[in-house]
Amino acid sequence: MANQTASLIEENQQLKAKIQELEDALAKKSAQHRVKITTMSSEVVDSNPYSRLMALKRMGIVKNYEDIRHYTVAIVGVGGVGSVTAEMLTRCGIGKLILFDYDKVELANMNRLFFRPDQSGMSKVEASEATLRDINPDVEFETHNYNITKVDKYDHFVGRIKSGGLQGKPVDLVLSCVDNFEARMAINMACNEINQMWIESGVSENAVSGHIQVVIPGQTSCFACAPPLVVADNIDEKTLKREGVCAASLPTTMGIVAGFLVQNTLKHLLQFGSVTHYLGYNAMKDYFPTMALKPNPHCDDSFCLIRQEEYQQYLAENPPEAESEDPTEDVVHESNEWGITLVDETPESEKKEELDPDLAKGLARAYDMPSVEQVRILVKDSTESQQETEEPVSLEELQSRLKGL
Ligand SMILES: [Zn+2]
Repeated sequence: MANQTASLIEENQQLKAKIQELEDALAKKSAQHRVKITTMSSEVVDSNPYSRLMALKRMGIVKNYEDIRHYTVAIVGVGGVGSVTAEMLTRCGIGKLILFDYDKVELANMNRLFFRPDQSGMSKVEASEATLRDINPDVEFETHNYNITKVDKYDHFVGRIKSGGLQGKPVDLVLSCVDNFEARMAINMACNEINQMWIESGVSENAVSGHIQVVIPGQTSCFACAPPLVVADNIDEKTLKREGVCAASLPTTMGIVAGFLVQNTLKHLLQFGSVTHYLGYNAMKDYFPTMALKPNPHCDDSFCLIRQEEYQQYLAENPPEAESEDPTEDVVHESNEWGITLVDETPESEKKEELDPDLAKGLARAYDMPSVEQVRILVKDSTESQQETEEPVSLEELQSRLKGL
C-alpha cells in the first residue's frame, strides 16, 4: 500500500513537471506572435513590419501607402493562385480580406505555394485564415466555406460583395482565382449586376500560360463579352474533370499570375502606375501580351448592357479633355462576329507571325494557346456527327457540345 502511494506521488510530480514544460513552450510560442499595430509607421527599424512598404512613399511611387488599410478585397477561390494572392495582400497590410472557397487542402496541392502538409483535410479558407492571421494580425478576415455557384449561396455572395467591406461598405475589388467556368460566370453576373470592378485570372491546364483581365462593368469587356477566351478556358477546365485526365500545375506559373494580380490590385487601390486591362503570359516563349478589351454591345449579360449604357451616358456628360491622354487606337475586326473591339498593345517586334489562322479573329492574340489544337480535337471527339470544318465554332455551339463531354 505504501509502495503504491509512493509511486502515485512520483507519477503526479512527473505529470506536473510535464505540464509546466508544455505551458512554458506555449507561452514562448504565443510571445512570438506580433501585436497589432494601430498606425502604419515609416520608421526604419528592424521591428517595423511596414518600413519597406512605407518606403514606397519616400521613393515617390505611392502617395499614401497607409491608405491600403481602408481597403477590402474579396478573393474567390483560395487555390494555387488565390492563396498566394491572399498572402501577398496580407503582407502588404490590406484592411480586410474576404475569402470564398469550398475545397479542402490536400497533399496533391503541395506542388504549389502557401499550404502545408499538416493542413491536409482542413478547409482551404480555415487553413488560410490561420496562417494569414499569424503573418499579419492587423488584417481583418472574413471567410466563407461554400460554393458561390450554388443557387442558395449566390445571394449571400452578392450581399457580402455589396456590404462586406470595412464599415459595411462595398468591397473595393473582387479577385477571381477560380478554376472553372461556372464560378467565373457567377462572379461576372454578380459584378455586372452591382457594378463592381473585378479582376479575372487563369492558368492553363498545361501549366505554361496564364492571364489576368480587369473587368470594369460597362467600360471594359466583361467575361461574357469575350467568348473566345472563355471558350478556350472552359474547354481546358472541362477536360480536368474527365476521368484519367489530370491537369498540370506549376508553382512558378501560379506565383507569376498571383503576382500580376496583386501588382495590378495595388496599382489600382493606391493609384500608381497604370492598370493593365489584359496581361497574358506564355512561359514557353516568355511572351507577355497586353491589350485593352472594349465591351461587346451584343453581350448576353443584360446587366453588362445596362452598365455600358450608363458609361456611354457618363462619357457624354463628362467628355474626356484631351485625346492625347489615351493614345491607343481602336481596331475593329470586320469579321469579328462578337463585335469585340481590341487594342493590341504588344510591340510589333513581339508579335507572332505564325498565329493560327483558324483562331477566332480578335482575341486570338491574347497569347499563343497551345491548347487550341487539343481543344479542337476534344470537340471533334465529343461529337459524333460533327463535320470537319476550318471555321471557328460559335460560343453557343461549343457550350452545347461541352455539355456532352
Ligand atoms: Zn459583357
